[in-house]
Amino acid sequence: MKLFSESIEVENAAERPKDDALEKLHCGGCGKDMIADIAHANDSTCPYCGALFRQPAYKRIEMIVDSGSFIEIEREAESKDPLSFPGYKTKIASEKTKSNMQEGVIIGKATIKGQRTAIAVMDSYFMMGSMGTVVGEKIVIIAGFATMNRLPLIIFCASGGARMQEGIHSLLQMSRTTIALARHSEQKLLHVNVLTHPTTGGVTASFAMQGDIIIAEPKSLIGFAGPRVIEQTVKDKLPEGFQTSEYLLGKGLIDRIVDRKDLRDTLAEILGLHCKR
Ligand SMILES: [Zn+2]
Repeated sequence: MKLFSESIEVENAAERPKDDALEKLHCGGCGKDMIADIAHANDSTCPYCGALFRQPAYKRIEMIVDSGSFIEIEREAESKDPLSFPGYKTKIASEKTKSNMQEGVIIGKATIKGQRTAIAVMDSYFMMGSMGTVVGEKIVIIAGFATMNRLPLIIFCASGGARMQEGIHSLLQMSRTTIALARHSEQKLLHVNVLTHPTTGGVTASFAMQGDIIIAEPKSLIGFAGPRVIEQTVKDKLPEGFQTSEYLLGKGLIDRIVDRKDLRDTLAEILGLHCKR
């Protein structure tokens, strides 16, 4: 098995640039507009009504892991343009500036209340967290890293699906990620997924549904195709709340819904129950 690249570079997240490019957010709960930095300083939660905004990946790391414990892996990995897709290189450049991310996922190792874990966090502010070659490769790398080091793996999912600009190269990542995670599972190591709004498309159809324990944030959209596409295909109305965390919990597709503010405690508890110190 050669999942773990020998050329992996390890860097400290403290050196990353500040999130200052995120501008204004509109709250779908109360209709108010607010400065993004203010909402993100409040755990990316609306200070007026408590609705959840999509959370930038580095903010998620700050909120979940022990302070100063996150060591990022492969931070500099960048997407190429394998199909010479019109406008893709320009799009990547603008997404980097806008989100302060190099790509749609960050991976690394950290501790949560003193317990070691490998972790991946997707960021929907970078091309809607879509999975191209780099996102897939980073999931494969962190799964291999967790397997080799006998660590549990936590993945925060947030994605619009496979990245159309990389075509078949994106779709290939569905099988690559699931195989890498199956190898982690074969070693009887814990894999926890946290599904956040939105988790859709090829990510839902691959590693997002693969966790031993699957948690979701409240009111998240989780599904494969969107509701409009399904309604047009089946020519029928969908049930109320279809594809929300609450609906899927009722159908047994996920194990638990956890409020964002309780996620750190919940993950620490799960690691404590399932992993040796
Ligand atoms: Zn609000």
